[in-house]
Amino acid sequence: MVDERMPPPTTDVSIVIPAYNESDSLPELLGRIDEVLRAAGFSYEVWVVDDGSRDGTFAVVSEIAKTRPEIHGVALRRNFGKSAALSAGFARARGRLVVTMDADLQDDPAEIPLLLAEIAKGSDLVSGWKQDRQDGFVKNKSSKVFNWVTSLATGLRLHDFNCGLKAYRAEVIQAVRVYGEMHRFIPAMAHLQGFRVTEVRVRHHRRRHGRTKYGPNRFLNGFLDLLTLLFLNSRSTSPLHFFGRVGLFMFVVGALINGYFLGEWILGHGLRVRPLLLLGVVLLIMAVQFVSLGLVAELIVSGRHPERDYHVRSEI
Ligand code: UDP
Ligand code: MG
Repeated sequence: MVDERMPPPTTDVSIVIPAYNESDSLPELLGRIDEVLRAAGFSYEVWVVDDGSRDGTFAVVSEIAKTRPEIHGVALRRNFGKSAALSAGFARARGRLVVTMDADLQDDPAEIPLLLAEIAKGSDLVSGWKQDRQDGFVKNKSSKVFNWVTSLATGLRLHDFNCGLKAYRAEVIQAVRVYGEMHRFIPAMAHLQGFRVTEVRVRHHRRRHGRTKYGPNRFLNGFLDLLTLLFLNSRSTSPLHFFGRVGLFMFVVGALINGYFLGEWILGHGLRVRPLLLLGVVLLIMAVQFVSLGLVAELIVSGRHPERDYHVRSEI
């Protein structure tokens, strides 16, 4: 569905590039993008989002933009992270198709036509799958685990969720909300919303200038974000269905246990504090807590003005 608030696309392809201290790579990258897209016959625009760089990244982009009107830059006030940078670029992209790529020349612009061809075949989102990855051993291995777990949890089988190089139909970027560090899960979110997501193998290069912006924390954050994604996805419309179920289960077990003790008491047996009695009481208290938590969450969700809870494929 095309969002009626968005103006119609004004170009074929928007290329969105998040850049944090990438001044050394950008001139070559922007030059190669032009070669590739011109040769492939696409009209295009580029949005470089300077994510609070301190190395003159924005000045480099501004200089290039002077002679190339299709190049645009946005400078964020400080470093907000890759997800925020992407979403700033998405909000400005006016292309019928949108391509994201890293600024550091690890992604190869020569692959862009390949991704776009895959979209022409019917995909809504095409993700790169880095071949022969040029990152360290630990990063490669932990990323394997990450991809495996994310595939299992979301039902979307991809080898490389976090590849910077991806192509989208504009509808997809209007539908997913990228915040925090959720950029790793754009394909998963799109899949959960019913978009068709596929992958193609792409080349990957070693970083030549600057250094990686992510430490080992990325994987811990990644798994926590996955939990958030799964939780939001399945429960957002009715949190009480989740918390209420857990609460009711505890209530039933707690009531059975304490009913047994009530029976004992009525029959005249003295009550002593036993582990089982304690368990029954704890379960009843927790049941009340869970149900109230569910109700509070319902309040939050109902006041949240979600734009929509569903995604339309087409209308006539
Ligand atoms: N990036 C960004 N903001 C950040 C961190 C990274 O815009 O806070 C950009 C960075 O400039 C690059 C891309 O995101 O274009 C991927 O980052 P990086 O190359 O450091 O990640 P890696 O390739 O090591 O996974
Ligand atoms: Mg990189």
